[in-house]
Amino acid sequence: MPPKTKLKTKRVVKDRRVKKKPCTFCTERTIDINYKDVMRLRKYVSERGKILPRRISGNCAKHQRLLTVAVKRARIIAFLPFVTE
Ligand SMILES: [Zn+2]
Repeated sequence: MPPKTKLKTKRVVKDRRVKKKPCTFCTERTIDINYKDVMRLRKYVSERGKILPRRISGNCAKHQRLLTVAVKRARIIAFLPFVTE
């Protein structure tokens, strides 16, 4: 594709990525994700009751998926809130 404009954006964005947190569930294989384990689930839920995204929690895709299901289950049986004000 020929360049139509002289405007070139240089890709000199500094690598600002923080060293990736390892997945806690992978490193500690003994702990399994259970919807009844509210104390653990609470750490992956924001102040407002939202599930933290993977890039913040540092979980791997597999465990994040399991965690999401667990949080949703916990919400239904009122262990965790849907929203907090
Ligand atoms: Zn994991």
